[in-house]
Amino acid sequence: MENRGRLYQDIQEILVRKEEISNAVKMLGEMITRDYEGKSPIMVCILKGASVFYVDLIREIDLPVNMEFMMVSSYGHGTQSTGNVMIRKDLDIDVHGRDVIIVEDIVDTGITLSFLSKIFAQRGAASVKIATLLDKPARRKVELKADYFCFTIPDAFVVGYGLDYDEKYRNLPDIGILKPEIYEK
Ligand code: 5GP
Repeated sequence: MENRGRLYQDIQEILVRKEEISNAVKMLGEMITRDYEGKSPIMVCILKGASVFYVDLIREIDLPVNMEFMMVSSYGHGTQSTGNVMIRKDLDIDVHGRDVIIVEDIVDTGITLSFLSKIFAQRGAASVKIATLLDKPARRKVELKADYFCFTIPDAFVVGYGLDYDEKYRNLPDIGILKPEIYEK
């Protein structure tokens, strides 16, 4: 592999390079800025996977946004969703009457985001939209459509740009398919 570094040794194929990510995030930021003109949405970062995407995205949005963080878990240490979503860290503010944009790394089965959308609706948010970096439509288990997404990817386990396997590879600048032998061993 032409790329430097030991993290890349575990990557089977790079799917999206950092330059492409950066262009897509910029365009998404401009789109959100237009769509929310005159508003001040709460941008909810879903930790930890969305963190890298989130800090890049909010800096491309020319609006007075609120930064909020939430942590949920559904995966544990494996590569398959457990189907149960648990809130491990909640927001610090009330979303009642506010516009909420949930910022997520990837929509896979759709279970996490469908759970979160319902929670914010129950809490009385004026609107709830989803911005995701990646969409993996092949594995959907519940009907869910992201309002904003950057890339559609095939059915493969990916890491990088915030996405991990067992807490590693989050700092890989590109998004790549992890070699199956890494999680199969
Ligand atoms: P869902 O509830 O849509 O099945 O899963 C959402 C969560 O699963 C994501 O936030 C992410 O943490 C994890 N996930 C799903 N697919 C992948 C993947 O290909 N790579 C990594 N690293 N995490 C994934």
